[in-house]
Amino acid sequence: MRTPIIAGNWKMNNTIKEALELIEEIKIQNLNENVEAVVCTPFTALKDVKEAIKGTDIKLGAQNMHWEESGAYTGEISPMMLKEIGVDYCIIGHSERRQYFNETDETVNKKIKSALETGFLPIVCVGETLEEREAGKAEEIVKAQVINAFKDIPGNKIADIVIAYEPIWAIGTGKTASSSDADDMCGFIRKTIGEIYSENEKEIIRIQYGGSVKPSNVKELMEKSNIDGALVGGASLKGTDFVKLINF
Ligand code: PGA
Repeated sequence: MRTPIIAGNWKMNNTIKEALELIEEIKIQNLNENVEAVVCTPFTALKDVKEAIKGTDIKLGAQNMHWEESGAYTGEISPMMLKEIGVDYCIIGHSERRQYFNETDETVNKKIKSALETGFLPIVCVGETLEEREAGKAEEIVKAQVINAFKDIPGNKIADIVIAYEPIWAIGTGKTASSSDADDMCGFIRKTIGEIYSENEKEIIRIQYGGSVKPSNVKELMEKSNIDGALVGGASLKGTDFVKLINF
C-alpha cells in the first residue's frame, strides 16, 4: 500500500555540469517503476535537473528552504521559489542543518507546514546522536522530534509527508544501523504517529531509513516491514550505485 521511496541527498556536491552528467547516467538505465526515485540536488542545479528529468519518472527535491514566502532573509530560498522550479519534495530538518545551522524542532514544524501549503512534499528528518543512543535515550529523543515536527498538522496531510529516520552516528560514517534496529525505530516512529493521529495515519505514513545505505545493504533494509524507503547521501553520488538502490 505504501509506495517505496528512494531519495538521493546530494548535499553540497555537484556543479550544474556534474549534476547533469549524473542524471544522464541514471536516466538511461531501466528503473523499477514501482519505486519512487527522487534526487535532492543543490539549489543551483534544480532548474537544469528539472529540465533533464522531463519525460522520466524521476522526481526532484530540494534540501532545505525558508518557511516564509518572501522577505528580508538574505541568502535564503523561499518555498515559492522552489514551487516555481517545480520541485516535488524538500528535505526538512536534516541533522546537518540541525547541527551546523541552528535548525530546531520549531523551524522544522514551520517548514513542513509551509511546504504543504505551497504544494510539495516534505521529507522530515529525525534521529538520535550516538551519545543519546548509548544513554538509552534514542526513543525519547526521536519521539519528541516527531511530536514537535507534527504539531498542528492535520491527519489528512499525513499521506503527503515522508519521515526519514537517520541515526546521526550512521550518517556518512559507513556504520549502518542493523536492519532490525532500523526497523525497530521506524516501527516506533510509526507507533508514535498512531498515538498522535490514529491507526489509519499510522499505516499511511511513509518512513525511510537513512545512514550509510548502499547497494550491499539496501535489500535487507527494504525487506523490513516498517521501512518504506531510504534517504541516501554518499551512494547517491554514483549513478550506478543509485540505480542499484532504486532497483533493489
Ligand atoms: P549517507 O548520508 O548515506 O552518506 O550516510 C545520508 C544522509 O545524510 O541523508
